[in-house]
Amino acid sequence: MVGLALVIVLVAAGTGLWITWDDTQTSRASPAGRVADLAPPSTAAADTRPTTTMALAPPCRFGDDPVTTDPATDWATTIVDTRYRLPEDFVPPDLVPVTEAGFDSQDQVREVMIEDLGAMRAEAEAAGAPFVVVSGYRSFSYQAQLYLERVAQVGEEEANRRTARPGHSEHQLGTAIDVLDPQGADLTTAFADTPTGRWIADHAHEFGFVLSYPEGGIDRTCYDYEPWHLRYVGRDVAAEIHELGITPREWMAAQAARDQEG
Ligand SMILES: [Zn+2]
Repeated sequence: MVGLALVIVLVAAGTGLWITWDDTQTSRASPAGRVADLAPPSTAAADTRPTTTMALAPPCRFGDDPVTTDPATDWATTIVDTRYRLPEDFVPPDLVPVTEAGFDSQDQVREVMIEDLGAMRAEAEAAGAPFVVVSGYRSFSYQAQLYLERVAQVGEEEANRRTARPGHSEHQLGTAIDVLDPQGADLTTAFADTPTGRWIADHAHEFGFVLSYPEGGIDRTCYDYEPWHLRYVGRDVAAEIHELGITPREWMAAQAARDQEG
């Protein structure tokens, strides 16, 4: 049933069938209505926001389409996935080391997120769930190197599920970080069950960060579960994504549809 719903939702999304809650109330017999019926239950039927967009994940495709928004200014809404690619020469304009947020490592992130990152570091530490930043900005050429190494290790198919092809990593945006508890050695899903991993899952959104690749979401995120990979989208957007229970990619796709309409 879930699989069927997903297929229908993906087909609907693929044909550009963007629907609103109001539409589904008045067109039960239409294909759009059936999509809504199969979609996850709305958490707030009285809410006037287009709640059904939560189910409209664009299908995951492999491609090299250029991103559809300016990653320098639209850092909260730029979709970077297996299809949409950042330009080879895109470098965020305001990179600073995470030492400015109180970390020891030299990884770089955009200055726009430093204040919230520092606040999250302090709050996590106070909660007994300290974390370190183990990865931040990655250049296009560094992504190319990582990808080729991974292909050599595990083959192309497995590599594509785990490692972004050059230009397809959110890390090039400068607003994505990988975090671990200070004792953690490897990026594995076991991180989710550590005190730090649980704290991140529960509280990161309060500081403007979201998990780009939540558990069970590969059909909607295009990548395997990564409890350590956070993307900064700002507190308002993060709160909305958390409240709706959708993936950031779904939120961004819905946002793009809203921008097209208006
Ligand atoms: Zn990452």
